[in-house]
Amino acid sequence: MILGSHVSFKKDDQLLGSVKEAISYGANTFMFYTGAPQNTVRSEINMNLKDQAMELMKENKIDKKNVVVHAPYIINLASSLEKHEFAVNFLKQEVKRVEILGFDKIVLHPGSYVSLTKEEGIKNIIGGLNEVLKDDTSVMILLETMAGKGTECGVNFKEIRQIIDGVLKKQNIGVCLDTCHINDAGYNLNDIDIILNDFDQIIGLKYLKCLHINDSKNPILSHKDRHENIGLGTIGFNNLMNVIYHEKLKDVPKILETPYVTVNDSSKDRAYPPYKLEIEMIKSKNFNPNLINDIREYYK
Ligand code: FE
Ligand code: FE
Ligand code: ZN
Repeated sequence: MILGSHVSFKKDDQLLGSVKEAISYGANTFMFYTGAPQNTVRSEINMNLKDQAMELMKENKIDKKNVVVHAPYIINLASSLEKHEFAVNFLKQEVKRVEILGFDKIVLHPGSYVSLTKEEGIKNIIGGLNEVLKDDTSVMILLETMAGKGTECGVNFKEIRQIIDGVLKKQNIGVCLDTCHINDAGYNLNDIDIILNDFDQIIGLKYLKCLHINDSKNPILSHKDRHENIGLGTIGFNNLMNVIYHEKLKDVPKILETPYVTVNDSSKDRAYPPYKLEIEMIKSKNFNPNLINDIREYYK
C-alpha cells in the first residue's frame, strides 16, 4: 500500500523537513506545496537539502515516483486575459520547481469559471494546459476531481474527460480522485466499483495517478468541500477502506488531507496533525471511534 499525507515544506529545511515529517507519520509517500498555496512567494530550492532528502527517502523506501506536489490554489486556468496569463506563467514556474526537486507529478485544481460560462472556462483550462505542457516537459499534471463548490470545473468524470480530450500532450496528463470531493459532487461511495467502472469508461483507469483520501463533513451532493477525519464523516470508515484496499487501486499513491485536530488549551490554541494515528488505523483495518481524543493524548 502506498499511503501518506499532506506535509509541510518550510523555508529552513525544505524537502528534507517534508521527508522527515512523512517518516514520522509512518508514511511511504507524501504530498506538499512548494510554498504557501495562497501566494506566489517561493524560496529558492536548496540543492543540498534536496540531495539529503533524496538520500533519506531511499533509506526509508520512499519512491520519488509516488510523491506528488500540489499546485497553489491561486492558479485559475479557467480565467481569461491577465488572470489567465498569470496562472499559466505561475504554473510553468511550479512545474519547473517540481522538475528541479526531482519529482514528476503535480496535482492541479482545474479552475473556476467565475463570470464566464463553464464551457468557456473549460476551453481556457485546455488552452492553459497546452501552453504549459511543452515537448521537453517531464512533469505530469494531475487534474483533481472537484466538489462543485461555486463555479468549479471538473466536478464529474465527463468534464475531466472533456479537458483531457483537448490536451495535446496526453502522456503528461493524469487525474487525482479526491474521495471527499466526489462525495460532495454526488458520487455514492457505498459502491466504489460503480464509480471505478464509470471512471474507466469515461476517462480510463490508466489516467488515475493519485487518490486523495478524505472523509467529508457534508452529505452526498452538498457541493461543499469540507474534509473530515477518516471514519468520522458521511463517507465512513468502511467505504474509505474499500477505496484504500481496492485491488485496482493498489499501485496508486493515497494521500490524506484530513483536518488537523485542535486543542482548546488555556494558553493558546494548537492544532495537531492526525496523520500518524490515521495511518495506523488504516493499516490496522480497525475503526477507532476515539481517534480525535487519542490524537490529542498522543501530542500532549
Ligand atoms: Fe486539492
Ligand atoms: Fe484534494
Ligand atoms: Zn478539498
